[in-house]
Amino acid sequence: MDVPTLAESLSNPTSFQRVFRVVADLLAPQDCFVCGGASGGDAVCPACLAELPRQPELACPVCALPTPGGAVCGHCLNAPPAFDATRALFSYAFPVDRMVQALKYHHRLALARFFADGLQRMPASGGVDLLLPMPLHVQRLRRRGFNQAVEIARPLARAWGLPLELAAVRRERDVPAQAGLARAARIANLRGAFRCERPLAGLHVLVVDDVMTTGASLNELARTLKRQGAARVENLVLARTP
Ligand SMILES: [Zn+2]
Ligand SMILES: [Zn+2]
Repeated sequence: MDVPTLAESLSNPTSFQRVFRVVADLLAPQDCFVCGGASGGDAVCPACLAELPRQPELACPVCALPTPGGAVCGHCLNAPPAFDATRALFSYAFPVDRMVQALKYHHRLALARFFADGLQRMPASGGVDLLLPMPLHVQRLRRRGFNQAVEIARPLARAWGLPLELAAVRRERDVPAQAGLARAARIANLRGAFRCERPLAGLHVLVVDDVMTTGASLNELARTLKRQGAARVENLVLARTP
């Protein structure tokens, strides 16, 4: 899959507005994204950073939904998903939801660096062989100009010295909004959404995504990776819908 790097996005002469915004974002002294106050060059000032809705520590280790005592939730016990574990940095609540939307739809790429920094400070998952950002469908990628999951995963891969896998998985179908669908319909809707031809025998894959809502896409991706022989699939997400 063609995933444009930031440099490639910048060199695309048809996207002047995007280029302008990205350059302005990189050059301008940053104001805090949340309160608009001085932030000393960071995306968020220290006071707002302390207030961001962190993911609760006690959560299902499989799907990251908060549970009493951090036990595996009933849903994961009854119908275990294809992935083995999920960790999240934030709850998908204000103002993290606005920050993710600003990154995705308004090209606020400074936020990708901010999010990657936060993920990097979480305890590392041991034994990971490669990082795999949730792929975007090629048409959506073309419209947006970049894949936010790639922009978050790239600095992580660099910091952890792990390979970043950008070509192994293709998103075959662009599945429209899943929100209105019942769980069974969402799962059916996603069958065959990903295609992977790379053998992954025995590998431990860390999937990086921005937001986990129902987990249906992550589940289908993990199913695809396991079919290719992946031994373990873990999700590392920026924000989990509570
Ligand atoms: Zn602030
Ligand atoms: Zn669970």
